[in-house]
Amino acid sequence: MSTHSPLHLISVVIPVYNEELCLEELIARTVAVCKGLDYSYEIIMVDDGSHDRSAQLLSEAACKSENIITAVFLNRNYGQHSALMAGFSQAKGDLIITLDADLQNPPEEIPRLVKKAAEGYDVVGTVRKNRQDSRFRKTASRIINHLIQRSTGQQMGDYGCMLRAYRRHIIDAMMSCHERSTFIPLLANTFARRVIEIPVKHAEREFGQSKYNTMRLINLMFDLVTCITTTPLRLLSIFGGIIALMGFLCSLFLIVMRLIIGPQWSAEGVFILFALLFIFIGAQFIGMGLLGEYIGRIYNDVRARPRYFIQKTIKSNKK
Ligand code: UDP
Ligand code: MG
Repeated sequence: MSTHSPLHLISVVIPVYNEELCLEELIARTVAVCKGLDYSYEIIMVDDGSHDRSAQLLSEAACKSENIITAVFLNRNYGQHSALMAGFSQAKGDLIITLDADLQNPPEEIPRLVKKAAEGYDVVGTVRKNRQDSRFRKTASRIINHLIQRSTGQQMGDYGCMLRAYRRHIIDAMMSCHERSTFIPLLANTFARRVIEIPVKHAEREFGQSKYNTMRLINLMFDLVTCITTTPLRLLSIFGGIIALMGFLCSLFLIVMRLIIGPQWSAEGVFILFALLFIFIGAQFIGMGLLGEYIGRIYNDVRARPRYFIQKTIKSNKK
């Protein structure tokens, strides 16, 4: 029995941040692919406060295209996921497909995603078959993907791949979330009933560089962790409990040794105390850092600033 609604309009949402070199090819290829679909389509390109000619290229493309491309301009750089959210707010499709602008996800894979979604899946995820990123990032991703699977119990192989399809109700549910630090693939999964993952090709970045430096990757990782779970907070207290117990046992040991062997032993044990002290201080700092990650996000949510601010949108009304 199928309960899914049929698809009419497909929206492709693409975040763009300093991608002037890719844009022309990206638009040409995406439009060509979409033309081949059996559905009507729109392409929404969100300029995430680029400093290069991306914004200009996007507005030109939007003006030229016949009602196909909508360019959305954010006033500054908000990050990939917020840019996507801004795009979602403008998308009208029954199925929304997200895509990176750098052509690492080939637009040619879109029809396969659409086909799968048409079979009734709420979310169509993807796994990069031959991922073309640095070894460091691949290893980090593998560890994080594994941890997410363990903690959420959901079998998703690759959360980092942004070539994904979401049905309208999933997008609506995500738009009704007020948090500012989001990781879209994970958030979507929490609202989905039927999820599937298909393998897709992955290309090397031909133009420009990755927009994620180490700091931004770390931030993204924390967004991802805090998006799904508050378990680390609980781990913190478990961890603290274990440390405290160990400290207690250690002091007991020290006292016993002092009683058995005499004062000369404990004087020589000064360095052990130092070592213990450092372990505790280290543990405290790890805990505090983690706590800070949550508090930082709570602070942001309490401030309740808009997640993005759309400066203007351009869409041609030519028929
Ligand atoms: N992006 C964005 N805002 C940002 C960083 C990235 O809109 O602050 C876009 C970027 O233009 C690209 C996508 O997000 O379309 C993925 O970025 P990138 O290719 O740099 O990430 P990576 O492939 O290295 O994970
Ligand atoms: Mg990329």
